[in-house]
Amino acid sequence: MPDPNHAAFVRAQGVIPGGVNSPVRAYRSVGGDPRFLASARGPYVTDVAGREYVDLVCSWGPALLGHAHPEVVAAVQEAAARGLSFGAPTLGEVELAEEVRRRVPAAERVRLVSTGTEATMTAVRLARGVTGRPLVVKFAGCYHGHVDGLLAEAGSGVATLAMPGSAGVTEASAAETLVLPYNDLAAVEAAFAQHGSQIAAVITEAAPANMGVVPPAEGFNEGLRRITSAHGALLILDEVLTGFRVGPSGWWGLENAALRSQGSEGYAPDLFTFGKVIGGGMPVAALGGPATVMNHLAPLGPVYQAGTLSGNPVAVASGLTTLRLADDGVYARVDHVASVLAAAVGEALSAEGVEHRVQRAGSLFSVFFGPLAASRGVRDYAQAQAQETHRYTALFHSMLESGVNLPPSVFEAWFVSAAHDDAAVDRILEALPAAAKAAAA
Ligand code: PLP
Repeated sequence: MPDPNHAAFVRAQGVIPGGVNSPVRAYRSVGGDPRFLASARGPYVTDVAGREYVDLVCSWGPALLGHAHPEVVAAVQEAAARGLSFGAPTLGEVELAEEVRRRVPAAERVRLVSTGTEATMTAVRLARGVTGRPLVVKFAGCYHGHVDGLLAEAGSGVATLAMPGSAGVTEASAAETLVLPYNDLAAVEAAFAQHGSQIAAVITEAAPANMGVVPPAEGFNEGLRRITSAHGALLILDEVLTGFRVGPSGWWGLENAALRSQGSEGYAPDLFTFGKVIGGGMPVAALGGPATVMNHLAPLGPVYQAGTLSGNPVAVASGLTTLRLADDGVYARVDHVASVLAAAVGEALSAEGVEHRVQRAGSLFSVFFGPLAASRGVRDYAQAQAQETHRYTALFHSMLESGVNLPPSVFEAWFVSAAHDDAAVDRILEALPAAAKAAAA
């Protein structure tokens, strides 16, 4: 009998391009048949063959509490029973926006959308509408969703498939995006010196995790704030991945707490984008910022944005319940699990003589392979791409064989959840030595 995953993949390819509805799921960079999942609970996912894996993908971020948390599922069921979609405002949306503002006070006004892509697309449109300028600066290796103008050197699936960007993006739209090397303030200064009066915004991942995890160098985000302010451009901090995951107030919260402890006032961007955890596994994302910026959105202002399913009541119930459950204990557990696993993967690889560097941004981490990464660390996309990616392929398949579901690309972060209890962590630890051996070969 053929493996049910293989049969499902063959069938899927007959009707869905590449058999998947989001490219990285297709295992193109690691090879083999993607696991078709039938269910997920806590730290585990189960495929259509009935095989269970400890999950380190966590739906690419949203599952901060683990899969199918009973209280989140109950809230979703209750909301669904009251109606799936109204196309009218609901109190749940207000409560979710208030919860976001409580955690991130600089997000005085919050607009809910359905995907991170919509959030960044709207943020860029808003920045252009507010400033009346055309250009946007992004960094190579940062992924902000599949917005036309933000796909250049975009990391994530674009990196996984070794694509320079995307066909179908017009030259005109690409020409309005300036792509700069990450962690290089001098390059940002130079771009502003040349084009300053034309730049509407700089968009950056708060802590990039789509070229592997490459945290900002000390002072980088603050430097972006300083330069954008000096030139009248907006700073868009993309926290779709980090927001409400690396801490209660995202990467911005962690960074600002550290800055304040050093006596600095900290910084705030003009716009935040959120996604993933804010929906707890359902389609919710958001943009937020000061009222003076956000009130340029329709219906108050001239920048149009809308959505039939924006603030959908069932999705909002999932996000609101998730955020309400995400207390200090949840963040402490996620941090602890990340520390244990990051250390363990490093030790296992070192024991086999595999040159590597594990990089972390809060509870997000990933591994870079090869002598260059090992000796100097990885600060930007060019360095991330220069690694020995084949070692990850071997590690990935060995872990999968041992019942651990890693992201099927070296350019993605490893995600843990508060449901990763000691039993789940032990299963990962037991799988690591064989995987490290495979990576050494
Ligand atoms: N921004 C960042 C930093 C992301 O990691 C992602 C998705 O991975 C997005 C934006 C796009 O979000 P979505 O996939 O919900 O459109």
